Amino acid sequence: MNILVINCGSSSLKYQLIDMNDEIVLAKGLAERIGIEGSRVKHEAKGKDKLVVEEPMTSHKEAINIVLKSLVDKTYGAISSLEEIDAIGHRVVHGGEKFASSVVIDKDVIDAMKECIDLAPLHNPPNIIGIEACKELLPDVPMVAVFDTAFHQSMPEKAYIYPLPYELYKELGIRRYGFHGTSHRYVSQKVAELTNDDIKNLKIITCHLGNGASVAAIENGKSVDTSMGLTPLEGLVMGTRCGDIDPAIVSFLMNKKKMSIAEVNNIMNKKSGVLGISGVSSDFRDIEEAVKDGDCRAKLALDKFYYVVKKYIGSYAAAMGGVDVIVFTAGLGENSISAREEICKGLEFLGIEIDSDKNNTRGKDAVISKDNSKVKVFVIPTNEELMIARDTKELVK
Ligand code: AMP
Repeated sequence: MNILVINCGSSSLKYQLIDMNDEIVLAKGLAERIGIEGSRVKHEAKGKDKLVVEEPMTSHKEAINIVLKSLVDKTYGAISSLEEIDAIGHRVVHGGEKFASSVVIDKDVIDAMKECIDLAPLHNPPNIIGIEACKELLPDVPMVAVFDTAFHQSMPEKAYIYPLPYELYKELGIRRYGFHGTSHRYVSQKVAELTNDDIKNLKIITCHLGNGASVAAIENGKSVDTSMGLTPLEGLVMGTRCGDIDPAIVSFLMNKKKMSIAEVNNIMNKKSGVLGISGVSSDFRDIEEAVKDGDCRAKLALDKFYYVVKKYIGSYAAAMGGVDVIVFTAGLGENSISAREEICKGLEFLGIEIDSDKNNTRGKDAVISKDNSKVKVFVIPTNEELMIARDTKELVK
């Protein structure tokens, strides 16, 4: 069974075609600058040369058309006909409270997704556009929606409710939803597989540390708390997002600097985080380099980032009454030896002990804790596309 996984952003579209018989990626690629001058599709099929198609693409439908043509291209393609695509799995950012798991897409599902647009105005519309475009181009192929928020729907009320007037939750759906759910679910399942444990017996803290970053507390295989909230702005310090701050800072800035809501939002989403503190970059590699050159603000940015991740690990261990496994994933979590070391430093009192030789690893599944560490610490590269494809296979078969 071949499954096409689609992840539509506002001007981009990532895709993978996965053969689910042995979970092999047959082809993958990225359509960029959709609707902007200079649009192109970068495509690569297994064992074939890379292809770059530079063509104007005014819509996601045109981009998907080029992707489909590339997939069946005689020289660069991975399949000989579109009939070899058995199902399509779509990443959808916000499923609100309507979706606690992945679903086969029909008209009602699309309508329900549209109702969640207010909660994710930047993300859900392109996701829906991608679904509608696929429906037009491949009307007979079943499609599944996999939501970033779904995994966290298992959070107990006390974890997701905000201490605001309860009516605001009822009227506007203001509550914690959490994101990166597909990634937290993938790495928590994978770690249980690697430790040969029943996930139901494990208390896991998963740290998805990329440009966007979040931590989740997973008990019994279910998310019981996570650091992102109503939107992906809450929680950890991120590349450009501020994470947790005193909410009164918003009105303070509006008063003192005569800023509009849009301007404050722009600061909190695009100009804060490690970029804001360091003034160097949102990319952790650049900041690590600047620290080596003696840049004090870059050091402060990293120190703040590590400190906040450490505090979340401590609080989630408290929330679950202990922790058995910690997982690091995503760009920084998978690749930065120093970040993992600094975050775990000082957590020995919780039974967390990193082995510096084992921690000298990047981008592959690895145990990085000492043999006698009470808490096992892992690096596990995330694979959201595979998780989406697995859900899709499960639902359409
Ligand atoms: P992601 O959003 O998961 O793609 O992660 C992107 C982030 O991971 C960027 O901030 C990168 O700087 C960071 N990253 C990727 N590779 C490395 C590395 N080798 N060392 C440090 N940070 C890295």
